Order: sequence, then C-alpha cells, then structure tokens
Amino acid sequence: MLNAAQSPLYRDLERILLTREQIRRRIDEIGEALTRDFQGKDLVCVCILKGAAPFFSDMIRAIDLPLRVDFMSISSYGSATKSSGVVRILKDLDRDIVGQHVLIIEDIVDSGLTLSFLKQNLLARGAASLSVCTLLDKPGRRKVALTPDYCGFEIEDAFVVGYGLDYAERYRNLPDIGVLKPEVYTS
Ligand code: 5GP
Repeated sequence: MLNAAQSPLYRDLERILLTREQIRRRIDEIGEALTRDFQGKDLVCVCILKGAAPFFSDMIRAIDLPLRVDFMSISSYGSATKSSGVVRILKDLDRDIVGQHVLIIEDIVDSGLTLSFLKQNLLARGAASLSVCTLLDKPGRRKVALTPDYCGFEIEDAFVVGYGLDYAERYRNLPDIGVLKPEVYTS
C-alpha cells in the first residue's frame, strides 16, 4: 500500500482530507446500516465507474447479504473540474433490474446532475426501489435537489482526489483522499 510520506503522488496534495482508516471505519458503519435496511430484499449494487470502483469493492464486502453487482460507466466530467451537466452512458448494466432493489454506489455528489439523471433512468426501468450511497457529498454545490440515502462524509467545496477520484485520470490509486493543490489543475 502506498505510503503518504514517501510516495511522489502525494506531492501534488495540499493536504489529506480523509485517511484510509477513517474511510474504512465509516464503510463498516454504513455496511451495518445497509445490511439491516436491505434484509430479505433482492439487492443489486450498481458501481458507477470509474471513480466509485475502490469504494464499491470495499462497500459491498461490508454488506452481509446475498447481493448482486453490476456496473455502469457514464461521462459527466471529462478531465475538467466542473460538471458539464451532460450525462452520457458509456457502459450500461448487464442485466435488467425489474423488481430489484437497486443501490447506486457513487464516489461523490457535487452538483447532483449525474445522480438525478441516473435515478430517473434506472427507476424508469422498473426497479422496485432506488437508493443512493455516496462516499462523499458536497451539499453546498448542489444545482438540483438530491439527498443521498447513505453518505460517508460531507465535505467542503474543494477538489479532491484519491481512493478512486481522479484528476485527468491520475491519483485514483491513492489509498487516502486529499485536496489537490490548485496549481496542479490551473497550470
Ligand atoms: P455532479 O454531477 O454531482 O456534479 O458530479 C458528480 C461527478 O463529478 C462525480 O462522480 C465525480 O466524477 C465528479 N466530481 C465532483 N466533485 C469532484 C471532486 O472534488 N473530485 C473529483 N476527482 N471528481 C469530482
């Protein structure tokens, strides 16, 4: 596992916002809540690629239920730091979700545009219920009303990377989450 003190990847960070230990503890707590709430239900966990992949893989292992997994890839950001509001499906679910209880697992909710599109899109396919679990939430930046059902951490309005979150496809492999130095994306 990368060491924050030694890895050159960490030099571009202004500071570490959430450590791998904090993330792990919170995932265990959310896992207990999900295990309780989805008891006896047909649960499908949907990973929103690529950013949610590390969170997804840790999160599903904290849910003690016979769930299924599926993956979707959408574009909403490109390599810029602001949402365009335009959502395109790059990879769709492999199986239909009629009558299933769907849990979308996402990395971060910012404007809310991506998730409100996804919620409408998946509900229209006949899911029995649709819930959202996000690791991070920036409630101060919302452009549409959207409240995640499960949230790891509410954070300030700063551009963060690590634990799946990228800038220009880099930093996804940092085990911790940090605030990127502004000069990295303004230069
Ligand atoms: P929204 O549609 O809610 O504005 O944006 C959601 C998507 O924007 C996230 O899935 C993520 O890809 C990207 N995003 C929003 N804020 C950040 C951030 O601070 N860091 C990174 N790396 N991506 C972000």
